[in-house]
Parts: sequence; C-alpha cells; structure tokens
Amino acid sequence: MPNNSFNIQATCNVCKTTDCKKLVDFTSDLDKEHYNVMKCKNCGLLFLYPLPNLTPQKLEQIYGEDYTETVYPDEQGKMDEDALNRQMEIVEKYVKVGRALNIGAMGSEVRVIKNRGWNLTIVDASKYALDRARKRGGVDELYLSKIEDFSCPPGSYDFIKFGHVIEHLKDPAEVLLKLSQMLRPGGIILVDTDNADGLETRIEESIMKFMRMKIIRKSAEKLVGKKYNLRYGRLTPPVHLYTFTSKSLIALTEKSGLKVLKSINSAWGDPTWFPTYNKSLVERMFIGIDQVGLKFGKGNVIAVLAQKI
Ligand SMILES: [Zn+2]
Repeated sequence: MPNNSFNIQATCNVCKTTDCKKLVDFTSDLDKEHYNVMKCKNCGLLFLYPLPNLTPQKLEQIYGEDYTETVYPDEQGKMDEDALNRQMEIVEKYVKVGRALNIGAMGSEVRVIKNRGWNLTIVDASKYALDRARKRGGVDELYLSKIEDFSCPPGSYDFIKFGHVIEHLKDPAEVLLKLSQMLRPGGIILVDTDNADGLETRIEESIMKFMRMKIIRKSAEKLVGKKYNLRYGRLTPPVHLYTFTSKSLIALTEKSGLKVLKSINSAWGDPTWFPTYNKSLVERMFIGIDQVGLKFGKGNVIAVLAQKI
C-alpha cells in the first residue's frame, strides 16, 4: 500500500470525516506490519491506518500471559485499590449500588467493585485473564468474549466501568453505542484512556523521533540495556489503535446517547487515577513532566463520567 498521504482516505471514527492528516508512518516491532498515524483535523483523534487485522489467534497472542500477568508489589496493589475506591465514590454520587459491568478481568476493579456491594459481571477476551479472575472468585457472572460480541438485554446495568479499553478497539464508536444501550436510563459509565494532548507524551514522542533512526536506537538500547518498541505517543500497534483527545472522547460519548457529567484530566501519580510506586529516576522525571502538563490541562490521562439519557 502506498504511503503517500494524498492517497490515504482514512475516516475518523468519531466525526466520520475523511478530513484527516498523516503524521508519520512506521513498521511496528510487535507485528512487523506497516502503519500510518492519522490525526482528525476536527477532533484531534489519533488513529492507525490501516487498522490491524486481529484474528482470534492474534488476539490470544497479544493478550496472553505476557500481557495480562502483571505482578505488582503489595504496596502498588493497595494504592490501585485505594484509587479505584476513590473513583467509585465519585460514581456512587450519581448512581445507587446495583448491577455493574466491568470490561476486562485484570486489575483491582473486580475486587473493589465487588467489595462495595455491586452485583458484578465481567467480560474479557483473554481466557488467561478470565481464568485468573475466576480463581480469585467473587464475581457473579464471567463471560469469555470480545466486548464487540457480548450481548445482553437493553438496560441491564446501572454502572459500566470501561477503563483503558477503548484505545484497543477497532471500532470504538460501535462499542460505546452498544455499552450505552446496555445501561438503564440514568445509569452511569466511566471511561478512561490516554490523552493524545498529554504534554509528557508529546515530549516523549519528540524523543522517539530520533529513535526512528536505527543507529541512535541501537546505541540507546545498548546504553540502557533495554529494547525500544517503535510507537507514536501512546499508539502501539497492534495493541493501542487510537489515542483520544478530551474533545474526541466527549464528542463520541455524546454521540452514543450519553450525557457527560464530568470530564476529567489527570496525570500519572494522581492518587485517584494513576498512583505510582517505586519508579526509576527516569520514570519519575517523566511523571514530573506529566504533572506539570496537568497544570495546563495536558495531563496524560483523560476520563469521562457520563449518564444514559
Ligand atoms: Zn474526528
């Protein structure tokens, strides 16, 4: 496929416009496929073109044991749980404890939401992640399914947690509309994801530009003893396929029959969204930049709390 940007007719998943520009193209280290990074001129959504063809085998490869198995030190696990409890306190200001759906079986969500008295359903495409959740126990219903293929009667849930999943999907608009239909009127959804406008991400991306020069990349890898996978900001094909701006996330939420109650910008190290523990000096430096970004509304994390109309 030619990489000439004039030949690319990529459509923004949010605005459905083809008024998008190509920023860069590169070959992913993860699947060896070539991708263009596109930006919607209207809403700022960043996305890959073409989108990867994710067969069930490929999905199993990407989201197998290597991806799902994250062993946190106890202190990080405790911080994550505290953060989720704070998020749920925000949610429960708007909706009474009832039936909840969590997309994804990893992380502390399962335990925290359950402990707060919710009847909890989880859906995950990874058999590995689901098996782990099943072993931990306590979940009312578990489904091995891509969220795209999951179905339930309309209005089934009072609350849906959609945390750091939207950037992985081939068609976020289709999935958010589907989730909106699963909420009862007045029900709440919490969506969070990376911020395409994050200051730290932009600075990191400027550094990564040099990494596209093989000689610099090889030297850097030698120096730190670590392999760098090429990416654009938070776009890591074939894993992260989209990066949203606040504007694009709000627009997509509103198009899905939901009313935005709160639009939140956050940064790594924020005790409610991304508490961090025991980071290296370099990582702490980037977290510091992220927190500076947050002061200007350019923290690396965005979240939307929305209500089904
Ligand atoms: Zn757009």
